[in-house]
Amino acid sequence: MTHRMTSTTNSRIDQLPVTAGVAPTSIRLIRDIYADKQAMGLPVISVEFFPPKTPKGDETLFERTLPALQAVAPDFYSVTYGAGGSTRDKTLAVVDRIQREHRTTTMAHLTCISTSRADIEHYLLEARAKGIRNILALRGDLPQDSGDLAQVECGFEYSYQLVAFIKQMGGFSIGTAGFPESHVACTDGKQVDWQRLKAKIDHGADVVLTQLFFDNDDYFTFRDYLVETLGVRVPITPGILPILNTEQIKRFTEICGSTLPAPLLAKLEAFGDDAEAVTEFGIEFATRQCEALLAGGAPGLHLYSLNKAHAATRIIDNLGLRSTRSPTPRA
Ligand SMILES: Cc1cc2nc3c(=O)[nH]c(=O)nc-3n(C[C@H](O)[C@H](O)[C@H](O)COP(=O)(O)OP(=O)(O)OC[C@H]3O[C@@H](n4cnc5c(N)ncnc54)[C@H](O)[C@@H]3O)c2cc1C
Repeated sequence: MTHRMTSTTNSRIDQLPVTAGVAPTSIRLIRDIYADKQAMGLPVISVEFFPPKTPKGDETLFERTLPALQAVAPDFYSVTYGAGGSTRDKTLAVVDRIQREHRTTTMAHLTCISTSRADIEHYLLEARAKGIRNILALRGDLPQDSGDLAQVECGFEYSYQLVAFIKQMGGFSIGTAGFPESHVACTDGKQVDWQRLKAKIDHGADVVLTQLFFDNDDYFTFRDYLVETLGVRVPITPGILPILNTEQIKRFTEICGSTLPAPLLAKLEAFGDDAEAVTEFGIEFATRQCEALLAGGAPGLHLYSLNKAHAATRIIDNLGLRSTRSPTPRA
């Protein structure tokens, strides 16, 4: 059954002032969104953005991408955080603006590497003051040429410590990153990396969002180990990147350590420089991948949008999941 409801159906919410620091009641904890959608037998759809670097990028995100995505009503959005805090203010500003203008729950990413506890606390207090209720707690990566930056007086070495810190502050639903093929820097084996993910959940993470992958068996093996061997009970949501460009996906997978299976790469290379054919194939491939993941019990889909609406909206439509956002509880 499809429950049609968008955030604009609650007239009381529409009357709330659109000013900074006001948290509309439509902004929810993501753990509650997952619980509601699970009870309705529907997947949770989330879409990830990065903070635009230019006014033109802002315009594209707010004037084109977001309105197009709102038409298919994902359950929540998330906004990334630049390495070492380079987008700190921008991340919070974009999350705040989405929540105020679109009344849709948006999660702020936060990394802790080479950041002091005081700065982390300040970010969280600022987030809270803006009505941001969800944080994706990450370690982050040091830039290649960072030298001694890692030694900056810093309260956190791994993200489980950040999860614990946020949990202790209270008031947030916490997401964490999971790696179906193991984290690229983990040399101790997949299962050790997955046990470390369990530690993040034990310290307070409510939801796992995964790194991109193309072979669903990687996700199912990872999920089954977490659930059946480690007893994890929180949602483990696959992260999906629709392929839009062959060179770009080769670069991304090399950086994040995800496998681009040889038959998939061969297929992409056979398209040569026919960019449109690559995009069409990428959307179709991602649709089939998502379909199989949902059929295999995935609790939702986290779509990496690269700030473009086209692929994400097409995939959501192809899956018949347009406007299945869970209803906003009335206060
Ligand atoms: C959904 C998603 C969103 C992301 N968003 C961003 C973003 O906005 N900004 C950004 O900069 N990056 C982002 N990343 C990338 C992420 O920051 C990097 O992958 C980073 O290298 C790992 O982050 P983590 O939180 O998983 O780290 P951790 O959980 O700390 O793990 C990092 C490494 O340390 C190891 N480890 C963990 N605990 C221990 C321990 N106790 N002892 C020894 N080793 C340990 C792990 O096995 C792993 O190899 C994102 C990743 C995902 C999947």
